[in-house]
Amino acid sequence: MKPIYKRTKILATIGPASDSEEMIEKLISGGINGARLNFSHGSYQEHADKITKIREISAKLGKNVAILQDLQGPKIRLGDIVNNRFDVAEGDELVLDYAIQQHDGSANLPVQYNLAEKVKVGEPVYIFDGKVRTEVIEILSGTAIKLKVLNKGTLMSRKGLNLPDTDFGGDVITEKDMRDIEFGATQDIDYVAMSFVQTAEDVENVRQILASHNSTAQVIAKIETKKAVSDEELEKIVLASDGIMIARGDMAYEVAPEVVPIVQRKTIALCRKHGKISIVATQTMGSMTDNPQPSRAEVSDVANAVIQGTDVVMLSDESATGKYPYETVRTMRSVIRYTQEHAAVAPIDDIVERGENESLNAISLAAVELAEQIDVDAIVVETKSGQTAATVAANRPALPIVSVTSDKRVAQQLGLNYGTQSYVRPDGEFAGFELAKELKANGFFGDKEVVTIVIVSGRQPGLVGGTDTIRVRTV
Ligand code: PGA
Ligand code: MN
Repeated sequence: MKPIYKRTKILATIGPASDSEEMIEKLISGGINGARLNFSHGSYQEHADKITKIREISAKLGKNVAILQDLQGPKIRLGDIVNNRFDVAEGDELVLDYAIQQHDGSANLPVQYNLAEKVKVGEPVYIFDGKVRTEVIEILSGTAIKLKVLNKGTLMSRKGLNLPDTDFGGDVITEKDMRDIEFGATQDIDYVAMSFVQTAEDVENVRQILASHNSTAQVIAKIETKKAVSDEELEKIVLASDGIMIARGDMAYEVAPEVVPIVQRKTIALCRKHGKISIVATQTMGSMTDNPQPSRAEVSDVANAVIQGTDVVMLSDESATGKYPYETVRTMRSVIRYTQEHAAVAPIDDIVERGENESLNAISLAAVELAEQIDVDAIVVETKSGQTAATVAANRPALPIVSVTSDKRVAQQLGLNYGTQSYVRPDGEFAGFELAKELKANGFFGDKEVVTIVIVSGRQPGLVGGTDTIRVRTV
């Protein structure tokens, strides 16, 4: 029998509900391919402990798991509020003052970011996931702004703010993000995700900061601001990044809920066009945070993301703080497997235009076409930087891809690419037939007696960008 692999990957946020060794082991053997560490929460010691556990357990299970460091970005929060409650009514005026250390019970509230430097009169400020909508009516000082409340509601300590029309002028990487990047560079991290990017330049800046700390992590841009989802910026951001997280949570507040499905579909298509990773995030299985079963809408949401050809579906609260992390992963895995066996991945040609020279990598495309035509058991890719494997995967073959690399970091990063499984092996002369035998012995092709595979590789193993050979081998 041909083995059936789950081709769409699962990225699960590891939090208090899932950071025990037992649960990490259950989640990795249960089907997750990546672990997300949310740097909006937790100490460095806690993050370092999680990384150690994930690496130890994935080594024990023989699975390459990607670790993603998710940076908070300019996620602005209120400070502490007396009694953790402040009621507001329509027409009320509020002051948000960065200089306030302690709330005195009045309408002068502490805030964890100096908004006075960024906002303009007339701009909207949404507080507590849009539950309280306000508008800036005055800049009071170098640290304080005055808001008019537009609807009745209740504010609580440290609730988040969304400022959809505020231009951060390239200033999206905060001091905290800088410290977090510096810490991350000392850790075994594969991806760094940047929140609230507005332009491709923001992504370039993160890349430069990572390089200055000698980090080998790749950069994921989280698409959640009005500017980032715009026609002018979106494709440029995709090109500047190694992957995109479609951050549907904040996107719904920063833009509007109804744009989310359309932006999702377009972003996945752009990522497939350019060979970048796409991650569909937030509320994929939201109700499973509290229930052992998902809603029908959530099942449809995940199935549709699979049909759209996303690389990854992500879990946030469901796995980080929910009651059923393991059940959620198993349910998601079942939905992915059923969907991939019963529906083809949709073409992208009616969503994005392909330029004449944008056939990704012609060798990768040819390998996938050949592999599908002769219905091989797997496509094996010898890849140094991961680029060839990513472009093979970008063609979304309905076949397992085995990515062979000598670089452990690359093997872990490829954990998030569609349809691929990684195998680490030193660069060697005897690639090809020997390699095929080795992979077969390691169980990559199931238990069939005779398997046929397509091998894509460079003439000189280990040379970056030297992919030039397609071979068919039967072992
Ligand atoms: P967050 O990102 O959970 O870090 O805010 C995801 C989102 O906004 O959807
Ligand atoms: Mn977000």
